[in-house]
Amino acid sequence: MGSLVTNSAAAPHSIPHREPLVDRFGRLHTNLRISVTDRCNIRCFYCMPAENVQFKPRHEILTFEEITRFVRVVAQMGINKLRLTGGEPLVRQNIDELVRALAKVPGIDDIALTTNGILLAEQAQALRAAGLKRLNVSLDALDAETFRKIARRDGFERILEGLRVAQQVGFERIKLNAVAIRGITEAQIVPLAGFARQNGFELRFIEFMPLDADGAWDNSQVIPGEEIRRVLETEIGPLAPLPVVDASQPATDFRFIDGGGTIGFINPVTQPFCGDCNRLRLTAEGQVRNCLFSTEEWDARALLRRGGQDEELAELVRDCIRVKKAGHGINSDEFLKPQRAMYQIGG
Ligand code: SAM
Ligand code: SF4
Repeated sequence: MGSLVTNSAAAPHSIPHREPLVDRFGRLHTNLRISVTDRCNIRCFYCMPAENVQFKPRHEILTFEEITRFVRVVAQMGINKLRLTGGEPLVRQNIDELVRALAKVPGIDDIALTTNGILLAEQAQALRAAGLKRLNVSLDALDAETFRKIARRDGFERILEGLRVAQQVGFERIKLNAVAIRGITEAQIVPLAGFARQNGFELRFIEFMPLDADGAWDNSQVIPGEEIRRVLETEIGPLAPLPVVDASQPATDFRFIDGGGTIGFINPVTQPFCGDCNRLRLTAEGQVRNCLFSTEEWDARALLRRGGQDEELAELVRDCIRVKKAGHGINSDEFLKPQRAMYQIGG
């Protein structure tokens, strides 16, 4: 008889098991987005104020040890994917050390990072060596002038250089995130797709969400993903839907039938995907949120800093997930814009 190896005997390094993070709508949470800073080296108008940004003092921001402790606890509850974000994660000093520490946490099998790419050329190699698997680079425009209009700072050329170096050091299937804004980026749609096709990037268009610091968002500024898809089909060629591999992925993916790459659409405004959401969030100053649009937060930092036990931390996260709403309700009359802007939450 063949012998099967089983894990029935407790393995010396087995992960302590805690109740998985299932909310009242049956959504299992396996994905954590960690904001490592609220600081940024540019000032995108859909995210931050242009000037006089009030950043959190450094002592309010979680240390790498605190973040790692939090991750160790939630990994025991089934979180297996992490995304580092911000603010701009690459302005946090030695961010590769955090990646290295998180990659060692039992149960974590995927670490990704979203960056504006400005400091990527300098840091890509170290991030890769530390165990970062996936990169998303934000690029809304393919010309320096439109970039400046959005970011209110320079940096376009540095992003292109960052992308080049990231590919050189071995990052594959880099995703480009482009926020589409009516009146500003229509003329960027086709050039961005051409750039992605030529260079092997996976481009995703994101609908503009009401998370700008100035509170100026208006539905009329949203370019629906469907509209962008039609433009690409007319200007470049037919797109075919790709099979859904993971229903919790926010993007709906297509491939150009000529074999020239894939395009994704993240349509939170016109086609909300809250029904399959598996995401939990930790802000830079240690507040746990169950949604980008959450108006409530759970204070993990206070617990971490007063010597709270792991089980207390686990219970705080369960409390947060327990009351998660069915959806963000952007299109309903009762929608309440969160107090915080995108850079203060972590996108
Ligand atoms: N600084 C990094 C960057 O820009 O990639 C990471 C943080 S940023 C908040 C994460 C993502 O959120 C970026 O792709 C950005 O374009 C997107 N984003 C920011 N504000 C947004 C908004 N109001 N609507 C839609 N996407 C937004
Ligand atoms: Fe900075 Fe990213 Fe916000 Fe732009 S979207 S201001 S790069 S944090």
